[in-house]
Order: sequence, then C-alpha cells, then structure tokens
Amino acid sequence: MTRLHESRKRILVTGGAGFLGSHLIDRLLDQGHELLCVDNLFTGTKRNIDHLHNHPRFEFMRHDITLPLYVEVDEIYNLACPASPIHYQYDPVQTTKTSVHGAINMLGLAKRLKCRILQASTSEVYGDPSVHPQSESYWGNVNPIGPRSCYDEGKRCAETLFFDYHRQHALDIKVARIFNTYGPRMHHADGRVVSNLITQALRGDPITIYGNGEQTRSFCYVDDLIDGLIQLMESDRKVTGPINLGNPAEFTVRELANKILVMTNSTSEWVELPLPQDDPKRRRPNIEKAQEVLGWQPTVSLDEGLGKTIDFFKTRLPKTG
Ligand code: NAD
Ligand code: UDP
Ligand code: UDP
Repeated sequence: MTRLHESRKRILVTGGAGFLGSHLIDRLLDQGHELLCVDNLFTGTKRNIDHLHNHPRFEFMRHDITLPLYVEVDEIYNLACPASPIHYQYDPVQTTKTSVHGAINMLGLAKRLKCRILQASTSEVYGDPSVHPQSESYWGNVNPIGPRSCYDEGKRCAETLFFDYHRQHALDIKVARIFNTYGPRMHHADGRVVSNLITQALRGDPITIYGNGEQTRSFCYVDDLIDGLIQLMESDRKVTGPINLGNPAEFTVRELANKILVMTNSTSEWVELPLPQDDPKRRRPNIEKAQEVLGWQPTVSLDEGLGKTIDFFKTRLPKTG
C-alpha cells in the first residue's frame, strides 16, 4: 500500500542489512517511505538487501554506529547489534560499544533532529528469569560479568540511556523488548537454535541439543515481529515502552527439534552437548501490554513459520561450512 507523498517519511534503520532490519526495510518501503540503511556488515550481509539495489527510495551507508552519524531523517529504528551468542561473544567489547556508544550517537542524532527513535532491546534484559512468564515490570536476573553480559548489560544500559534522554531532553522514544525471533534471512551459522537445527537436519548432521533440551523458548515469526515494531513506532507519543514483543507459545528445545526433524524428513541423530553458561532455563513473554496498548499479537504458528524458514534455508544453505 503506497502512502500519499505528504506522509512519506525518511526513515533510518541501523542494522538494516541484518535479519530483522532487512525485513523492516522491505515493509517500510512497501508503505511508501524513503529508507536509509546504516550497517557495518559485521553480521549482516548485502545479500539481504541486494534486491533493493536499484530501488529509488532506498539508500545504503556502510558505517559503524559507535561513531557519530550526521544525516537528516524523520524517524530512527536502532537495530544495529550482533544478536546471537556466537556473534556477540566474538568481540564482546565491540558488542558493548555498539549498544552503549551506538545508543548515545543515535540518541544524539534524534535529539538534534527532534525525531522519534525506537530501540530494539531484548528479552535478555531479563537474564535467567526468576519470574515466569516475563512481564515488563520484572527487573531481571542478569549476571553482570559473565560471557553473555556484553549483550545483556549493553542492552540494559541502552534502555537506561533511552529513558534518560526521554526524561532529560524530552526525546520521543520507544523501547521494544524482542523475544526470540526466527524466519527467512536468519544467518545459517549464527549458532541460534532454529538456524542450527534446521541446518543440521537438512545436511543430515547430528542435531545438537544443549543440556537435556528441557529448557524452553518462545519463538516469534519475523513477519509478526515486524508488525509489532511498526505498530509501536506509530503508537501515541506517551507510549514509550518498554514493551515485550514475542510469541507466548512456549516450547522445549526438544519439542522444537522434533518438529524440525519431522518437517525436513531428516534422519539426523541427536547429540547432547553441555549447556552454555548462563543459558536461561525458561523464557516466555507476557504480551498483555502489547495486546492492550498496541492491539498487537502474533498470528503465525510455529509450524507455519518453520515451514517458511526451512524453505528459505533449502535455497540459501551452502553445502558445507
Ligand atoms: P543481525 O545480526 O542479523 O542484525 C544486526 C545488524 O547490525 C547486522 O546487519 C550487523 O552487521 C549490524 N551491526 C552490528 N554492529 C554494528 C555497528 N556497530 N554499526 C553498524 N551496524 C552494526 O541480528 P537481528 O536478529 O536482525 O537483530 C537485530 C536487532 O534486534 C539487534 O539489536 C538485536 O539485539 C535485536 N534482537 C533480536 C532478536 C532475535 O531473535 N532476532 C531478539 C532480541 C533482540
Ligand atoms: N551525534 C551524532 N549525530 C548528531 C548529533 C549527535 O552522531 O547528529 C552524537 C555525537 O557524537 C554526540 C552524541 O551523539 O557525542 C550525543 O549527543 P548529545 O547531543 O546528547 O551530547 P553531546 O553532543 O553534548 O555530547
Ligand atoms: N540450543 C541448543 N542447540 C543449539 C543451539 C542452541 O540446544 O544448537 C539451545 C540453547 O542452549 C538455548 C536455546 O537453544 O537454551 C536457545 O538458544 P539461542 O542461542 O537460539 O537463543 P537464546 O539462548 O539467546 O535465547
């Protein structure tokens, strides 16, 4: 649906060459906006935005958001940050810098432009939660010095910065706490459970279950998540969040693995590997706030979403590696 020219906005998406960012850009272009994608291509790839190469309303800028950025835009979605454990633990100092310095720069930009800014925060701010399911009022249980801390604490500090810029400079902010999201354009080697298990199942490699596989996650299909992000961005100014966006349907890793094996007709065997340090035992969003304030809730079932994701991996998966 194309908007009238007057309502066309110039929108900055940081991390736009990544999994979520590239889907967000597609959707915003469909709505008739102009898009500026800023990405340093650390975990993202030009392949995710190749199809936009000649799009008249799309522009790509290779830039690291830990450095200042002077551009003119009407709205900012701040998604830049490695998101999977192996990616964010590869260079943990850079991960924290991306969350913290990156947030300061993007908030400084929004302050100068007096424009609305949305932060892609994460369910990881709840750590290994002692409250289940997690609602926004829960403060979390995060190890400040462990291997996941660069991501968790970086994202927590970014939230702090967003709310301080809001209170101190009256900035128009939105904070989304995103729970595990999957779908086409996930990186096949990001080590996340959905991408790992689909890759292993399609290749006939052993299915790696960390721990006993009884830990749970709640998986949201990317299209649903993008709907939620845009609805939050377009919500009333007084809605700042934080607001949980995720799918409350909770599955054990074993249940997920079984589904993937059946859907791929795979003969892969199972192998149990040690549970990583600080791996949360349960995670499920309470999305009452998103339902109430945004009228949003996911609509795509795990079976349907996995089917689309498996189809994508079949076309993009390198034979090995
Ligand atoms: P992704 O790795 O596919 O995308 C992140 C993008 O940010 C990549 O394109 C990467 O190159 C870019 N980037 C990283 N550091 C940068 C920097 N310093 N400067 C500029 N660009 C940089 O990950 P994703 O799954 O699309 O995640 C997007 C955002 O959503 C992240 O902020 C992540 O923390 C958040 N999030 C994702 C999930 C999920 O399940 N996918 C869950 C919670 C939160
Ligand atoms: N900044 C930016 N683009 C802008 C404006 C600011 O990247 O258009 C960065 C700049 O590097 C600054 C940071 O955002 O350090 C924070 O800006 P703010 O105005 O809050 O603080 P100050 O400039 O006073 O440090
Ligand atoms: N996991 C697993 N096998 C894998 C990859 C992950 O059993 O090959 C587990 C992991 O230990 C965690 C869950 O699946 O309990 C989700 O892991 P992921 O890295 O996808 O997300 P996060 O832990 O950040 O929620």
